[in-house]
Amino acid sequence: MKKAISIKDLPSISGTGGKPAVLAHICCGPCSVMPLKSLLEGQAEVSGFFHNPNIHPLSEFRKRLEAAKELARHLSLDVIFDEEYRPSALLKGMREHAGPGFPEFGKRCGYCYYLRLEAAARTAGGLGFPVFTSSLLYSRYQDHEAIRSAGVELAAKYGILFLYEDFRPLWQDGVDASRALGLYRQKYCGCIYSKVERYSKKAKAASKNRSCS
Ligand code: SF4
Repeated sequence: MKKAISIKDLPSISGTGGKPAVLAHICCGPCSVMPLKSLLEGQAEVSGFFHNPNIHPLSEFRKRLEAAKELARHLSLDVIFDEEYRPSALLKGMREHAGPGFPEFGKRCGYCYYLRLEAAARTAGGLGFPVFTSSLLYSRYQDHEAIRSAGVELAAKYGILFLYEDFRPLWQDGVDASRALGLYRQKYCGCIYSKVERYSKKAKAASKNRSCS
């Protein structure tokens, strides 16, 4: 299996005007600020691709879509927005593909990564982008090895390259930049399971605080 490339490899990839075209999957606005800025500074011709059928519910989907649009405007970036809200295919696929332990965190995410990355890779390949990547690589909460492995596999399937960069060291810069831009910052990863986990943790912490007072 081929390896992923990184930002430092971009100059060796041919492209129009010396810049290779990279299609960057955008998982949300706040997570995308630093990956997109890094790619633009890394001499890539960057376009975005918003495709996130994992986000639940519709009101949350709309908020994240709007934040991604706001960021695209700020960066003057061309972005393909998949604006259709259809979470049922993801939920069905997660149930079918996840192993024992579903829906625990980690048991469900592999399919979620694969579905979104495959849409990005298919679009990149179809539109002639030689490289694709994802803003999921900014998150401290995602499984980077699973994302890298899915990205490399899909790149081979669609005849392109997957760019892996560990954007996690830019975490605080991204938080600061997204706040400065006034982007909507979500409180949970995206799917209904992550929402339930987030609010059950909050409820536990609240009841612990109450018992201590
Ligand atoms: S926790 Fe996040 S990555 Fe995992 S399945 Fe849910 S939305 Fe997808």
